[in-house]
Amino acid sequence: MSTQTVTRTPAGVRVGLRPPAEAYAFIGADHPLQPIAVLDVTLQEGEALAAIELATVCECDLRTTSSSRAATVPQILGHEQVGRIVALGPGDPALTADGRVLALGDRVVWAREVACGRCDECRTRSAGAVEQTAACRRPHRYGRERATRGWELSGGIATHVHLLAGTVVFRARDWVPAAVLAPAACAGAAATAALDSAARQQPLEGARVVISDAGMRGVTAAAMAAARGAVVTVLDADPVRRQRALRFGASAVFAPDVSPKGHDVALDFVGTTEAVDAVAARTRHGGLIVVAGDDAAPQRRLVQTASVISRELRVHVVEKVEPVHVGQALAFLERADAAVFAEAVGETVPLREAPRAFTAAPHLRLRTAIRP
Ligand SMILES: [Zn+2]
Ligand SMILES: [Zn+2]
Repeated sequence: MSTQTVTRTPAGVRVGLRPPAEAYAFIGADHPLQPIAVLDVTLQEGEALAAIELATVCECDLRTTSSSRAATVPQILGHEQVGRIVALGPGDPALTADGRVLALGDRVVWAREVACGRCDECRTRSAGAVEQTAACRRPHRYGRERATRGWELSGGIATHVHLLAGTVVFRARDWVPAAVLAPAACAGAAATAALDSAARQQPLEGARVVISDAGMRGVTAAAMAAARGAVVTVLDADPVRRQRALRFGASAVFAPDVSPKGHDVALDFVGTTEAVDAVAARTRHGGLIVVAGDDAAPQRRLVQTASVISRELRVHVVEKVEPVHVGQALAFLERADAAVFAEAVGETVPLREAPRAFTAAPHLRLRTAIRP
């Protein structure tokens, strides 16, 4: 049985956990993920401790573990998850995104970045956490940073996550499966950001939209675009993934090189020259292309492909996924067909087998889930 002791100390609220909290750390591309144990967590004002109900492994995590690029290690991975608040810091209570007091027992998802509170944008902006996180120059990133003393539980591949003050937290409905809601913070938010960007420049009702791949972001965007009245085509080289995209709301699916042309709007979540060019070639002259990969800077360069230039496409690169997109994604997923979205999770593994979730065959499932 697990027990939790709460002690008020001058340094904050100290939460002792028995058995200890456990998190999985990436320590380098040539090593398996390593478990770390955390016996107690000290919460400051505005902070909270969430017990993880379910986490999903997103493309960002897979890119970190498979990349030979030097990452700052150890890094607790994971920023797609659903949790439940089990402890709160001292002083004034934290608020959820809808302005209510964050309470013990709340089922929550949260934005994957949190404002640093120290940069010039943070210091000059007195607005709320949503605006501050969007503007911050050096946000802390859940699941993407070196674990530090005092903030060891910084990612979702864990039993618990330590939510820093200023984290934009959204309450999740109790009856929607965690597998449906966990991807809201990354895949859902990225899809929302791309569609919002497209919709600002072109009405989506009746528009012909082509999406460059049937990954989690792609199929989520397909479902969202279809819900806004668009006619959606999804491209993917893999027939299993193409079939799945149809269930998410695509009207048509094709291998990238054989699809029809003349779409009004192209969405790319892959972020490679080939993927951008493939959807650009399927877009009408003067149409719109929105690129929403994970890193805006290289995408601004790669997006000027031959097809983009020859078709004189209007180009928009999504610079940043903001907390507001997480909230919109969560609201969409709570109303979506749970059976379809839950199917995107191919397997759920226990936390002690977390390393196995990083060796999944990606065409068979869009997400592997981890349950503590
Ligand atoms: Zn991610
Ligand atoms: Zn900042």
